[in-house]
This record gives sequence, C-alpha cells and structure tokens, in this order.
Amino acid sequence: MAKIIVIGGGWSGCAAAIAAKKTGAEVRILERTDLLLGLGNVGGIMRNNGRFTAAEENICMGAGELFSLTDRCATHRNVDFPGHHHATFYNVILAEPQVRSLVKEMGIRTDFLTRAVDAVCEEGRLSAVKTAEGEYIEADVFIDCTGTTGPMGNCMEFGNGCSMCVLRCPAFGPRVSISEKAGGHDYYGKRADGTPGAFSGSVKLEKSSLSAEIVRQLEEKGTAIIPLPEELINESKLSAKVCRQYALRPFAENVILIDTGYAKMMTPYFPLEQLRTVPGFEHVRFVDPYAGGKGNSVRYMAVTERDAFMRVRGTKNLFCGGEKAGLYIGHTEAISTGTLAGHNAGRFARGQELLTLPESTAIGALLAYRKDDGGMITFAGDAFFAYMKEQGLYTTDREIIEKRIKQAGLTGVYNS
Ligand SMILES: Cc1cc2nc3c(=O)[nH]c(=O)nc-3n(C[C@H](O)[C@H](O)[C@H](O)COP(=O)(O)OP(=O)(O)OC[C@H]3O[C@@H](n4cnc5c(N)ncnc54)[C@H](O)[C@@H]3O)c2cc1C
Repeated sequence: MAKIIVIGGGWSGCAAAIAAKKTGAEVRILERTDLLLGLGNVGGIMRNNGRFTAAEENICMGAGELFSLTDRCATHRNVDFPGHHHATFYNVILAEPQVRSLVKEMGIRTDFLTRAVDAVCEEGRLSAVKTAEGEYIEADVFIDCTGTTGPMGNCMEFGNGCSMCVLRCPAFGPRVSISEKAGGHDYYGKRADGTPGAFSGSVKLEKSSLSAEIVRQLEEKGTAIIPLPEELINESKLSAKVCRQYALRPFAENVILIDTGYAKMMTPYFPLEQLRTVPGFEHVRFVDPYAGGKGNSVRYMAVTERDAFMRVRGTKNLFCGGEKAGLYIGHTEAISTGTLAGHNAGRFARGQELLTLPESTAIGALLAYRKDDGGMITFAGDAFFAYMKEQGLYTTDREIIEKRIKQAGLTGVYNS
C-alpha cells in the first residue's frame, strides 16, 4: 500500500488526508501542535457568499465529509451580516474533537507534537521528512499543508509582536515550510501598502465578559452590531488585514460580533482600554489571540509555487494545499485545495493521470485566478467573488451546481 504523509493538520491537511485515504493509501498526518484544524480553531464562518457554491461543488464531487461536519457543528445558519449572505457559523470549540474522531475512524494516523523540520530530497523526489526529534519518516508521496502563519520572528518583524495565537509557536516550535526545504520556491502576500504578510482579521472575546444584552443578541441572531463612538473609528486597520472581504466601512464604524462559540469580533486587534469604553464591553477579555488588544498573527509569509495538479514546482512527489498553495483565505478554500492535493497524491501513488478542475467550476476558477497586487483571494468577497459573479459561477441553487459538476464529468470523482 502506498504511503502518503501530510505535513500540517489544519483544514487543508485534514481534507488532504481524507481525500488521500479514499484513494486507498496509508495516510499519516504530522502536526506540530496538540490540535488538528490549525487556524480553523478560531475561524468559523462558512458558506458566506461564494463559499456556499464552493462547498456544494465539493459535496457533488464526493468531498462532503468536512462540510457536513461544520454544518452539524453550526451555532447559526443562513445569517446575513454586512457584505455577506447566507453564512453558517460553526462552533470552533466543538469542531476539532469531531474532526479528530472522523480522521481516526477513517484509519488515518495522526502524530501530534511532531514538527517536520527538513526534507530528504534528490532530484526533486522526496524520500523522507526529518522531525525536530531527529526521526526520518519515509513515504512515497508527501503533501505540504503547513500554512503561512508565523513563526514568531515574522510576527515580530511584520506585526506587533507574537500575539499568542492558537498556533502557539513559542510552545510547539516554529512553522517550517517543507516545500522550501524540498527545493520549491516560496513567496509572500502583501498588504495594500506593500508590507509583507497581513494581520489575521478577527479576535475572539469571552462571551461572559460582555453585557447580557449583547450576548442575548448574539445568541438570538448570530451577530451583534454595536456602533463605535467617532473617536474610536480607525479605518487604517482595514488595509492591514488579510480579509479584504471585510475591508468595508461598516467593519470600521461598528464592532461586528459573530457567534462562533466565542464572540468573534471582526477586527484584527483593538486596544483593551479603548474597547472597554464602549457600552456593553466594560469588562471585556480577549481569548484569542491573548494579545488581541495589541496585535494579531501575521499570515501569507510562505506561499509556494505549484502547478494545476497542486504539485509543488520543482518537485515530483510533493503536493500542497491550503494557504500554502496560494494566497487563499478561508476554511472552504483550504478544504477545496487540500482535497484536490490529497486526491492527486493518491493518483500519483497509483501511477494514474492527475486531475485538474476546469474553470467552469468555482474551485477550478479560484485555482487559476491571479491577482497582480499580491493581495489575498477568497470565494467570500473582494475581487474573486466579483469575478465569480461576472462569470456566472456564483449560485446557491444546488441543482445548478450538481448539473455543472456533472457536465464537467466530476460527479463523485473524489470517491473514485
Ligand atoms: C483569527 C482568524 C479567523 C479566521 N476566520 C475565518 C473564518 O471565519 N472563515 C474562514 O473561512 N476562514 C477564516 N480564517 C482563515 C482560515 O482559518 C485559514 O485560511 C485556513 O484555515 C488555513 O488552513 P491551512 O490548513 O492552510 O493552514 P493552517 O490552519 O495554518 O494549518 C497549518 C497547520 O500546519 C501545522 N504546521 C506548520 N508547520 C508544521 C511543520 N513543520 N510540521 C508539522 N506541522 C506543521 C500548524 O501547526 C497548523 O496546524 C481565519 C483565520 C484566522 C487566523
């Protein structure tokens, strides 16, 4: 049986592992922390705008497992908030244990506290990765799903210092790009002013530290929108954040909260002293990142060049998914790219022709889409969502999506 190693157990790594397992391979995830899902432990927004279409395309192609799981863990469904429609919010506290069980039930082995630090590679073919403990782990095919966030040095240089985010680099060691170790070429995303990387766009507040009225609104509607006093409006933060889909005036003029188990506040950071002057926030506390009063994690520091099969350029048997595979923001984007990477890793191991997704699908269009300014790309808003609409790719009609996938000959392809 072919052996496939996935490095990094975020949404893209989990999706890659599931897709690879379904091709009949023996699959093992190496994860440097003690949790699966990586940044997925603090996000939660699914199915907003074009992400709905992409989720349904994945389901039609046979990659429904992670979407049914996030749907099942939803705190709220079909929610509209500024610039966004029909969003589902999954509970970020409940999702990880469920993904962990799913992966285990599927017979995928996960090695936690296992950080890959180097690659053994000859003429573009990897034979093993080396762990921080000095162990060499061999396989036939590898998938780099290590993300682009951190390590601490990048957050110090391009952010406001280590914000103590969920990736917890000081405890578990820095992120390492296996693509670059294997001879691939990494590049970085840019903010509007050209600075490398971008701040993650939200912080999580402890619900019990908010007023009863805000919590009531949040739990009833899924969102709460609290206008900010004039002196606290800071539009400059909009251009520093990853999530261009939220770079809209209402996100500067209001505190916009979303119920993801925590109260997710849609701003990269907010000085605690100032936030506590807003009615209802007098006792507020950050739960992620701990230093959310000052900064946030810096992302898009190590995206790798790849081909249309999700294979890292310059290598033969190394695939990539998630933020590693492009300037893609989001869980849905990570699952979509990770799934194709995992599926193709399995095809490669079986000596089969590799799969590409045509641009008649929203996912295929995303994979082919390029932005000249080094900015990030998402199904959920900004330039790529506008492009989806122009091309007639955005729809919430499941029948149309089913037909589109059928016409492309892709129905159930990930189950084959
Ligand atoms: C605060 C915040 C809020 C967000 N909110 C949303 C949202 O609401 N909706 C949405 O769609 N998206 C959201 N996002 C974006 C989304 O979470 C990410 O784009 C997506 O989850 C990235 O997944 P990934 O698998 O590519 O990378 P990551 O989640 O970064 O996973 C990478 C994994 O690799 C591991 N790793 C790294 N190096 C190594 C190594 N050398 N060896 C072993 N393991 C390694 C890491 O520990 C990590 O677990 C949010 C992001 C943040 C930070």
